[in-house]
Amino acid sequence: MIVNLILLGPPGAGKGTQAQRLVERLKLPQISTGDLLRAAVRDGTDLGRQAKEYMQRGELVPDSVVVLMLKKRMQADDCRTGCILDGFPRAVTQAEILEGVFSEQARSLNHVVSIEVPEEELVRRLTGRRSCPKCGAMFHVMFSPPEKEGVCDKCDGELITRADDNEETIRNRIAVYREQTEPLKKYYEEKGLLRPIDGTGTPKDIEEKIAKVIG
Ligand code: AMP
Repeated sequence: MIVNLILLGPPGAGKGTQAQRLVERLKLPQISTGDLLRAAVRDGTDLGRQAKEYMQRGELVPDSVVVLMLKKRMQADDCRTGCILDGFPRAVTQAEILEGVFSEQARSLNHVVSIEVPEEELVRRLTGRRSCPKCGAMFHVMFSPPEKEGVCDKCDGELITRADDNEETIRNRIAVYREQTEPLKKYYEEKGLLRPIDGTGTPKDIEEKIAKVIG
């Protein structure tokens, strides 16, 4: 069965964590525009250079940059049976563009899972977050620390704090979410695709809630 799924939610809601769990469960690829952008910044590509400052400020990177990356990724063979979109769309303009991409590729969107988490919890989660740039695994200094400090349990990579996981940028990213991304909830609700879930609890609990709403 083909499944195209969007994970929607503020920064720190657990989109990346849940996307990785759903990759295993549904055998579908995760497409994270944040990961694609960070890789482009690391590699110093043209698109990466254009994106870098927006990301440092916690603002949205222009659609022209993000959409190019997304389209290229969605054309890859592994996306033929569907995909899990994590971090895209982030504004109504992007949702409209996505609709065009889906219809060009004769596919459709099945579910938009909106992960709801209170703001103070988001800040707590993001300030303690550590991630592995090599394999994408995520940890938290208090809630899910790695066995050895600073080292990834999965691949032995060196854990980093993302450049945009500092309190000032976090607050800005949350504000940008409220202004530009949250209107998507109404947009998808009207299309009958929105599946809101409570994003507090353990990653396993939340995975089960998602599995339930997407059937
Ligand atoms: P994320 O890893 O999803 O938290 O994204 C990190 C940063 O990448 C965001 O704060 C934005 O600057 C940028 N970004 C990721 N996805 C998008 C998108 N769909 N549109 C615009 N900017 C994005």
